[in-house]
Amino acid sequence: MKTLYLDNNATTQVAPEVLETMLPYFHELYGNPSSMHSFGGQVAKQIREAREQAAALIGATPDEIIFTSCGTESDNAAILGTLDSYLEKRHFITTRVEHPAVGNVSAYLSRKGYRVLELSVDREGRLDLDELRESITDQTAIVSMMYANNETGVIFPIDRISEIVKEKGIPFHTDAVQAVGKIPINLKKLPIDLLSLSGHKLHAPKGIGVLFIRKGTKFSPFMIGGHQEKGRRGGTENVPYIIGRGKACELAKKNMEDENTRVKALRDYLEQKILDRIPNTLVNGDRVNRLPNTVSVSFEYVEGESILLLLSDLGICASSGSACTSGSLEPSHVLRAMGVPFTAAHGSIRFSLSIYSTKEEMDYIIEHLPPIIQRLRDISPFWKDYLKSQNKK
Ligand code: PLP
Repeated sequence: MKTLYLDNNATTQVAPEVLETMLPYFHELYGNPSSMHSFGGQVAKQIREAREQAAALIGATPDEIIFTSCGTESDNAAILGTLDSYLEKRHFITTRVEHPAVGNVSAYLSRKGYRVLELSVDREGRLDLDELRESITDQTAIVSMMYANNETGVIFPIDRISEIVKEKGIPFHTDAVQAVGKIPINLKKLPIDLLSLSGHKLHAPKGIGVLFIRKGTKFSPFMIGGHQEKGRRGGTENVPYIIGRGKACELAKKNMEDENTRVKALRDYLEQKILDRIPNTLVNGDRVNRLPNTVSVSFEYVEGESILLLLSDLGICASSGSACTSGSLEPSHVLRAMGVPFTAAHGSIRFSLSIYSTKEEMDYIIEHLPPIIQRLRDISPFWKDYLKSQNKK
């Protein structure tokens, strides 16, 4: 059975060009970039190039790039490394819809006695920027808000958010794990101090991340060890992955146009056909300010997990909530924060496309999804109650 992979916000396929670039660094050029000999030295040169490629994708300079082990480490390092530099400040501001890589840091900070404020969002997943402005105090150590949401694809207005935070002279971090490579980001124009990204969301392998730290930003290393990354992150560099990630950044820069035209058109096509063919279906989140590859749809009165299993039987991979939160039957914290009604939040499915997605795949889903939803509604007591209530009207 063919696999139709529409779960690219969970992880992506490693691009063949990326894999090819990485392979020699496992068994031929395996030197340590810190070594004095030229065998190691040639690897250091490739790491420099990967750093330039990572910087070029986001408008940074190479010495503002630190390689980490994943997006989660980048988020943790950005927040905890900043708090460690402002020990006297005990106030942290974030949102209610962050990925657990930030959300669970908030919970940890609350337990440690920090005052944590998680700003809420409206029904479309949007923030109230006046509330943000009013919340910042001289006790605020850092504000951390995601660039784009992993479940709904909603993009926060990071240009305005970062300006508000900078006007108050407070460090600003953004988790851009889902945004980088999908939408243009130019750090020359945005007053962002720290930005996290992850390799496996843009066709590099799992287990490699990047943290951008703007020149002059106060930061205490989170991973304490050797002199690597100019003393900002200890640990021998993960050479093949760093080099693969560099290549993935170069490819992402080239593919951004395709992502924002062809992939977006495919997403819109899938979304519209689903809405046309399946009644009682809603799209979650702001449909304008949204990643080009993501759609979160809720099918009222059915369980997302049952839909996923039936799709999986047909080789279709999607997700209910984020990959990290599925496995529990609670509606996702993101949909709850948006106030999506219980009957719809339970039946939510995220399709996330990539540059490898095709029109044939969309058509296959459009053909098979309506009977799946109908089959599940036929056995749903909630659907029966809904039909009865409609008949009474
Ligand atoms: N932040 C966001 C928005 C994500 O979607 C993810 C992964 O799903 C992460 C952080 C964590 O990244 P990683 O899996 O590289 O630790």
